[in-house]
Amino acid sequence: MREQAIGAEILDWYDANARILPWRIAPGDRLAGIAPDPYRVWLSEIMLQQTTVAAVKEYFLHFTTLWPSVTDLAAAEDAAVMGEWAGLGYYARARNLLKCARAVVAEHGGRFPTTEAELLTLPGIGPYTAAAIASIAFDRPAPVMDGNIERVMSRLFAVEEPLPTSKPVLKAHAERLTPQGRPGDHAQALMDLGATICTPKNPACGICPVMRNCAARAQGIAADLPRKLPKKAKPTRLGYVYLAQRADGAVLLETRPDKGLLGGMLAFPTSDWSEFPTEAPPLEAAWEDPSAEVRHTFTHFHLRLALRVAQVGAEVQPSRGVFVVRDQFKPSALPTLMRKAYDLGRGTLGHN
Ligand code: SF4
Repeated sequence: MREQAIGAEILDWYDANARILPWRIAPGDRLAGIAPDPYRVWLSEIMLQQTTVAAVKEYFLHFTTLWPSVTDLAAAEDAAVMGEWAGLGYYARARNLLKCARAVVAEHGGRFPTTEAELLTLPGIGPYTAAAIASIAFDRPAPVMDGNIERVMSRLFAVEEPLPTSKPVLKAHAERLTPQGRPGDHAQALMDLGATICTPKNPACGICPVMRNCAARAQGIAADLPRKLPKKAKPTRLGYVYLAQRADGAVLLETRPDKGLLGGMLAFPTSDWSEFPTEAPPLEAAWEDPSAEVRHTFTHFHLRLALRVAQVGAEVQPSRGVFVVRDQFKPSALPTLMRKAYDLGRGTLGHN
């Protein structure tokens, strides 16, 4: 049967070509009986959402050094975890990471549940992540559908219907392809195939292990798939970001509300972000306008924040936020947007 042939070809290729990743058990070790640590599988999958493997590696190693088990992470301080996550983006992931670790400890005795249905009840675990953990950590035949695997499916079976409407069809193909034996390695093999051979542009069909069974290659349409519905243009929101510094070097920062963008992260105060923002300085001061603008793109919109900078006296009381003394101010704990604001304003603040 064609599916069985494809499945066998993919696993053979994976055995010889698996990427070495810090959260992965190599296929040889897996066959020798070494089981993956569900905590490391879960942590890597949360970090990899919307983020590249190259960007995640360093964060993963750092997190697992600081918090080697789910119990350690569950006991961590919120601010410490949010600070270490800074720069990785999509901060709701970090808040849910802590909630999930604490739920695993409180409700499951520190052991991750093994089925997709149970995993889906945990904070921050959606259908993709539940399937990935069930498959990779517990070797359950759950089809794991990420962008790479959707692309491979649409090409292997020459699905011309555009994404996202083709998702159910692609999943049905992936289900038929998933073997009962070694489903975890099969999922990782598909991820690797999509990341290294069946790439978005210029797929390397000439060295692909499944080229004989690939419908898109046979029809000469591999690089045209998957087709996608046109994306809507992203709107632009505007706002102001306020960098205030006291004479002793302390810098005004606030923790953003848990709900909303950059929720729970340390940040410089800002106005609202909208088409017509209103200035909302966090304290009375002679705010300077250095004619500089921070630009950042979120998933659904572009953001442009005009910079405002002030040097203030020790007696000034902000209406929100707290002054953080210079020794305790860690720019690395700021999310990328705020790091950009700091880099723009640091000259005016006199920081080297
Ligand atoms: Fe992708 Fe080409 Fe392999 Fe088909 S033959 S799966 S299009 S790399």
